[in-house]
Amino acid sequence: MGVGGGQQVGKLRLVAADSDRPVTYCSACGTKAEQRKGRKRVKSCDEAANTLGQYLLGQQRERFAAILLNNANAVLWEGVVAEGGKAFCPVDPSDILRPAIMLGAAGIIIGHNHPSGSTLPSESDMELTKKLSIACSATGFKLLDHIIMADGEAYYSFMGRGALRLIEDEISHTFTRRE
Ligand SMILES: [Zn+2]
Repeated sequence: MGVGGGQQVGKLRLVAADSDRPVTYCSACGTKAEQRKGRKRVKSCDEAANTLGQYLLGQQRERFAAILLNNANAVLWEGVVAEGGKAFCPVDPSDILRPAIMLGAAGIIIGHNHPSGSTLPSESDMELTKKLSIACSATGFKLLDHIIMADGEAYYSFMGRGALRLIEDEISHTFTRRE
């Protein structure tokens, strides 16, 4: 799985250096994003789901899509990062971090679909979210959300359900406990 070789980490630090403003995202957190004209902005789970739905809904195969944001929540890039089979899509954190590094993104939202119907996260969805969250926090990116979508179903948001926060707490606990 190999997240972050020496060279990559060096590049990522440069990106992190100009991401000094706090990333604001979900209105549920009580934070407000600064308004700026021009680029499309994504500031809530609903807006993220609307954007990701264009790539994930109505698909026969499982896909991963991402939205890369700058530190004012303006969209730098959005699109499909991986496509797999009916019930599985191989994706590695580096598939998502590589474009984030190249574009100097600050925030990352990922999403995938379940062609089978249920939007409940699987064991491997939890595992991937955790891996990506670790990779992001080690490299200065903010993982803002992971959304699971299925046709005709309400989306599942790791952020909206509080699952992302639990994962972050678990990770920081693991890191601070280390002697
Ligand atoms: Zn899944």
